Amino acid sequence: MAIDFTLPPDVEATRKRVRDFMDAEVRPAEEKLNANATDGEPDRGDIVRMIIELRQKAHEWEVWLPHMPKEWGGLGLSITAMAFVSAEAARTRFGPFILNAQAPDEGNQHTLLHHANDDQKKRYLEPLLEGRVRSCFAMTEPEVAGSDPTGIRTMAVLDEANDEWVINGHKWFISGAKGASFAILIAKTDPDADPPQASNSAFIVDLPAEGWEIVRDVNTMAGHGNHCEIRITDLRLPSSQMLAERGHGHLLGQARLGPARLAHCMRWIGQTEQALEMLIDRAERRQLHGAPLAEKQAIQWMMSDSAMELYAAKLMVLHAAFKIENKQPFRQEVSFAKHHVANMLWKVVDRAIQVHGALGYSTDTPLESMLRHARSARLVDGADEVHQALIARNLRQVYAETGDTRGATGDFDF
Ligand SMILES: Cc1cc2nc3c(=O)[nH]c(=O)nc-3n(C[C@H](O)[C@H](O)[C@H](O)COP(=O)(O)OP(=O)(O)OC[C@H]3O[C@@H](n4cnc5c(N)ncnc54)[C@H](O)[C@@H]3O)c2cc1C
Repeated sequence: MAIDFTLPPDVEATRKRVRDFMDAEVRPAEEKLNANATDGEPDRGDIVRMIIELRQKAHEWEVWLPHMPKEWGGLGLSITAMAFVSAEAARTRFGPFILNAQAPDEGNQHTLLHHANDDQKKRYLEPLLEGRVRSCFAMTEPEVAGSDPTGIRTMAVLDEANDEWVINGHKWFISGAKGASFAILIAKTDPDADPPQASNSAFIVDLPAEGWEIVRDVNTMAGHGNHCEIRITDLRLPSSQMLAERGHGHLLGQARLGPARLAHCMRWIGQTEQALEMLIDRAERRQLHGAPLAEKQAIQWMMSDSAMELYAAKLMVLHAAFKIENKQPFRQEVSFAKHHVANMLWKVVDRAIQVHGALGYSTDTPLESMLRHARSARLVDGADEVHQALIARNLRQVYAETGDTRGATGDFDF
């Protein structure tokens, strides 16, 4: 029986170093930033200056690029170890950025590491890892359902005479597009491919580029988050800009999404912890009817529901990470985790707001902003229902094959 949740000493030391770094450097810098903010939102220039300064310190604290192999300048942490480190980083708003482990760059770093050729690694991965540039990942389109990437309409047509792809299309919600030095773009190269999943390919686009127009930064319920609409018109790319093989766009997207979904979950666990701590702190300090609010059973139920959900979330994420790390089938477990953690984050932040009363509804605490950002967790990287459909499909298949459900409920023998 080899179930042991004790962290190896080197991982525990890194986790603690990240926590100390967040407490000693990142949180005070964020508080200073917020103190200078007008209408609750800090100035963008101040944010960039803070990130550059803190990234320098991240090198000094040896917390830079925790998820990348040592030969690429990272700390070489496994995905299971990253669960602990990402959660620590996400207890602050900009923590993942400071470590260069934020979406979508983290997912793009893994994608390039595993699928780019040597020349592409030199030109795109190296500067991304050094923190000199940012990137984006462009797949979703306004006209077709993002939940079914086989429907992508952005077309790449080969101009054989010039050995160039000519690309036309329309993308939106492309996070980090403004200011990105390159995009990983998914486009249709083989519309009649069988299976349809083989119809898309991935390209690397140097930015800015002729034919790549940022139409707008889409305004959302959480404000302008650099989730951009992009119009692509006769964009020409040499064939060497294809990433991985022709027709592998879908496969690459899927390979990228498993670990990237889990990385989101890890960060959401850190945010949930922060919200639950605020809930308890407020409930202990707020007095009514001669006793702290925390003495009310209704409030205790909120606490205990949150604790149970958070505990289940941690186990789900760890198990999915373990499966990825040990090259076992992981899609079912990643879907469990993605769905559960996204919904838990929403519920716990909402409860924390409830316990804070009017203060929770105000912009005087980070909770209202956390709630607005949390809503997107149930949409990005697979909407809730996409994961539920996948979970049910696996469940039915396993039941049909084995007569029980164990293979689709964690694959343990109990
Ligand atoms: C903040 C944010 C950042 C994003 N960043 C990026 C990015 O960087 N790059 C990128 O390419 N995309 C990005 N996206 C887009 C995101 O990946 C898509 O929103 C997501 O894939 C869903 O696609 P859609 O919005 O077209 O919804 P649709 O596919 O139209 O789905 C709409 C709804 O239908 C339901 N649904 C879908 N499938 C099923 C099913 N099988 N059964 C039942 N119901 C179902 C769900 O409720 C779903 O919400 C981002 C989105 C957000 C909100």
